[in-house]
Amino acid sequence: MTDTTSRAAPLYAVFGNPISHSRSPRIHALFAAQTGVALRYEARLAPVDGFAEALDAFRAEGGVGANVTVPFKFDAWRLCKRRSAAAQLAQAVNTVGWDEAGLWGDNTDGIGLVRDLARLLGGDPHRPLEGRRLLLLGAGGAASGILGPLITAGVRAIALWNRTGDRAQALAARHGALAAQHGTDLQVVAEPPRQWADGVVNATAASLGGAGLELAEGVLRPGIWAYDLMYGAQDTPFVAQARAAGATAWDGLGMLVEQAAQSYTLWHGEAPDTAPVLAVLRAELAIAAD
Ligand code: NAP
Repeated sequence: MTDTTSRAAPLYAVFGNPISHSRSPRIHALFAAQTGVALRYEARLAPVDGFAEALDAFRAEGGVGANVTVPFKFDAWRLCKRRSAAAQLAQAVNTVGWDEAGLWGDNTDGIGLVRDLARLLGGDPHRPLEGRRLLLLGAGGAASGILGPLITAGVRAIALWNRTGDRAQALAARHGALAAQHGTDLQVVAEPPRQWADGVVNATAASLGGAGLELAEGVLRPGIWAYDLMYGAQDTPFVAQARAAGATAWDGLGMLVEQAAQSYTLWHGEAPDTAPVLAVLRAELAIAAD
């Protein structure tokens, strides 16, 4: 069996603040064991105002690639010499690497969400949201990363709501041309619409505060699905809120694994099998909660 943690193995990391909670080192270790790739992958805490320096130091240490999480996705986007189309639209980067032309960046959050929704909803794996009406809550780094891939996954109409309306307006404006190209009706809403959406994606950080969102009756309702990007051993507050309203609800652990798989593919040229890794993570979360 390949030693996937040898000191000579290529070094990867995830940068964030905070970062100790991150499951990314575990996910990449499981992918590496599955595919026989030798690598080291560590969680790195960077000062809130010191991401660029931390990334430089990591590169000098021999780092060859990194994931980037809250609050550094926008900093990473600014630093990249080349960005994928997804990263450019998102103006946020969660995956970086270096080559002869310097630092490149991509954003795998959106493809991660769409793949997880395809698993959960069934249907066409590339267009699992064909014809649906979607309410997207939030306009931060995560919402920025997923809006473009939601549009290209065939969503018919998207209502975008954010606590700070200006951020939602800016995000929608950036995606206007893509939405028009795909025939998606993209609207910013002052209030989440009632009795409207087939699916609701919560890309706010509200669940981190331990509370659900203040939503009028009928926004979440029986017969629709709801997806919280946050995940945990127990139901997140939003998942609990959606289930109480009669919706089918899931957390974002599957997206976490899928976005990591896409980063892994970009770095190593090989797509890992995500299903067993998701099962391990889910089981480990349950054990940790006991
Ligand atoms: P972010 O850039 O800090 O943005 C936070 C967003 O949440 C903003 O839209 C903010 O609104 C909103 N918000 C925060 N507290 C709120 C509250 N109490 N009520 C209503 N809205 C609130 O964070 P992010 O990177 O977008 O991350 C958002 C969530 O997604 C986090 O829970 C993160 O863990 C999760 N996430 C999961 C995955 C995954 O793979 N599963 C990937 C990425 C992110 P304002 O603009 O008004 O401040």
